[in-house]
Amino acid sequence: MPTPQSNNLTAPPEVDVRAALAQQFMSDRLFGVESVPVPVGALAGMAAPGAGASAVRPRSAASGDPEAGARLRVLDEREVQTCRKCSLSKTRTKTVFGCGSPQARLVFVGEAPGFDEDRTGMPFVGKAGALLTKMIEAGMGLARDEVYICNVLKCRPPSNRDPSADEILACSAYLQQQLEWIHPEVIIALGAPAAKTLLCTTSGIGKLRGRFHEYDLSGTKGAGPVVSLMPTYHPAYLLRNPGEKGKTWSDLQMVMAKLGLPISKK
Ligand code: SF4
Repeated sequence: MPTPQSNNLTAPPEVDVRAALAQQFMSDRLFGVESVPVPVGALAGMAAPGAGASAVRPRSAASGDPEAGARLRVLDEREVQTCRKCSLSKTRTKTVFGCGSPQARLVFVGEAPGFDEDRTGMPFVGKAGALLTKMIEAGMGLARDEVYICNVLKCRPPSNRDPSADEILACSAYLQQQLEWIHPEVIIALGAPAAKTLLCTTSGIGKLRGRFHEYDLSGTKGAGPVVSLMPTYHPAYLLRNPGEKGKTWSDLQMVMAKLGLPISKK
């Protein structure tokens, strides 16, 4: 299990009125409101430097394992798909390893597969998955296959109950290995279980989100390279609590700025 890692790397940027208007506009667009009265040009100053930057690292880049794709495939096919390390192996239909680019600069980590994921073997394909895709594509201006998406658990807990501590302990080595091989620049932890697992903390998501934390890719503090981790709300929570969507958009903007990605105007 990773050791606790919660040092603040970057404070939230100051927000002026124009930025606040632009943020509200993008939050509404991101989550389904098609028209709001924002002055033309209000978004003009929101584009971050680095327009045109890619979310996928070139294969020649120093960080990231060039063999990550092959390694991940072997881990999935030889270990995860046949895994019996916890009782969820008895109730799952399919294991759900992860999907996306092995060279991704950005990895999303959720909690566990749900009903649709258990049937298809793919992460985030239900209603929450549709919202996550909207966040990535309409909000961040990226293609879903440019990033990597996975969960802490690779098997669905019955009736979507919360994962137990034993299940997380049994499964987290797979996640740690995925993150180490992909070596993203930023990890977004979706929801409290993912954030608590990755940061080894009992703090709630409301306290953790809104700032960057440190995650040690080796799984042991001080023993390997450190990357930035942004906790934010899980899309399933946002579907139940739409009033929190603006906070998630704010978190995503901070990640985009760190990656040098332009703020999407779509
Ligand atoms: S949840 Fe993880 S540890 Fe448990 S059986 Fe599935 S792959 Fe193995």
